[in-house]
Amino acid sequence: MATIELRQVEKKFGQLHAVKPMDLTIHSGEFVVLLGPSGCGKTTTLRMISGLEAVTGGHIYLDGRDVTWLHPSERDIAFVFQFFALYPHMTVLDNIRFPLQAQRVPRDEAEKRVSEIVKMLQIEHLLHLRPGSLSGGDRQRVALARALVRRPAAFLMDEPLGALDADLRESMRAEIKRLHIANNATTVYVTHDQLEAMALGDRIVVMSAAEIQQVGNPAEVYYKPANLFVARFIGSPGMNLISGRYADGVVYLPGDNRYTVPESWRAPLAQALKDGEVIIGFRPESARITEDGALAARVYASDMHGAFNMIHLALGEESNIVNVRVDRWITYALDTPVRFDIDPEGVRFFDPRSEKALRRGGAQ
Ligand code: ATP
Repeated sequence: MATIELRQVEKKFGQLHAVKPMDLTIHSGEFVVLLGPSGCGKTTTLRMISGLEAVTGGHIYLDGRDVTWLHPSERDIAFVFQFFALYPHMTVLDNIRFPLQAQRVPRDEAEKRVSEIVKMLQIEHLLHLRPGSLSGGDRQRVALARALVRRPAAFLMDEPLGALDADLRESMRAEIKRLHIANNATTVYVTHDQLEAMALGDRIVVMSAAEIQQVGNPAEVYYKPANLFVARFIGSPGMNLISGRYADGVVYLPGDNRYTVPESWRAPLAQALKDGEVIIGFRPESARITEDGALAARVYASDMHGAFNMIHLALGEESNIVNVRVDRWITYALDTPVRFDIDPEGVRFFDPRSEKALRRGGAQ
C-alpha cells in the first residue's frame, strides 16, 4: 500500500498544455478514479505517476519518497492498460507467473500467490491455454491476475474495461471492486464513463480541459457538483439546470414560475449574485410531481427505464426542459399540465458568469 502525492505536476507537449499544474493526494488503500471527457489529460496524468511520461514540472511522491525522476521499474507500481498485452507464445499460467520470475520470488511463494489469484479471478480452467484463444473478458482477467500477482504498492489502470462488451464490463467492474476490497491496494483508475467512476471510486477526480474540476466521493460530485461542468457531466441524464433571476428570496423562472428559495440559501444568493442572474440545479430524483407543487410545467416526453420512468417537463418554452424521476407505474399523456416541487435539500445554485456552484457557509 502506498500514498501517492502530486504537487504542481504538469505536462506540456510543445504548445499544448495537456495537464495544468495539479495537486492531488491519493491515500494509502484508496480507489481513486480520474474521470473526464476524451483529451482532458487523464491518461497523461496516469502515465506521469507510472513514470512512462516525464513531467514538465512539479513532483510526484510515493510514500513520501520523491519518485519524479525514477524509472517506472523503480516505482513499485503496476499498470493495467485497456489493450492488455499478454505474451502470445506463453500459456496463461506462464503469463501470470512471469512477473514473479522476473522479481526472483521463491518458487513456493510464487506458486502460492498464483494459485490465490487464479482462484480469486476464477480462471483456473484457462491456465493451460494461450491468450489468442481467450475471449476479451478472460484476457482482461488474466492481465489483472498478472498485475495483482506482483503485489505492487499501487495499481494504475487506464480504461481496463474499455474494450469489453457492456455486460462483461459490469461483471468485471464488480470483480475489480471485490479485488480492491480484498487487497486494499492503492488504485488510480482512468475512465471517461461516469457510471463506472461512481461504481468504483472511493473518490472521483473530475477533470476537464487539463484541469481538476472537483475531487470528491461519488455522492459529493453527484449531489454537490462544484461547477456546471461537473453538474452536466455526472449523471445520466445530467443535473437539471434552469436559468432564472433572483430577487428577494424568489427565483423567477421560465413559464411565469416563481421558486421560493430555501431560507438557508437566501443570504448566499444575495451576496454572490451581482445582477441576480442564477442557474438552479437539481437531480431528477430531487423533484416530485404533486398537485399542489410550487412550479408549473407540461409533460414534454417520457421514457421508460424499467425500474422507473423519467418524465421530461417543459417550463414555458420547450428549451427549458427538466427531467423528473417517477415510479415505474406512473405515466402521463403528452402536454399534460403538471405541478412539481424541488426537495429543498437537493437544490443547488450556480453563478452563470463563473459557472461555479454557490456555497452555503460550511455546509455547502
Ligand atoms: P482519452 O480518454 O481520449 O485517452 P485523456 O483524457 O486520457 O483522453 P490524454 O491522453 O491525457 O487525454 O491527452 C491529453 C492531451 O494531450 C490531448 O490533447 C492529447 O492529444 C495530447 N497528447 C497526449 N499524448 C501526447 C503526445 N505524446 N504528444 C503530443 N500530444 C499528446
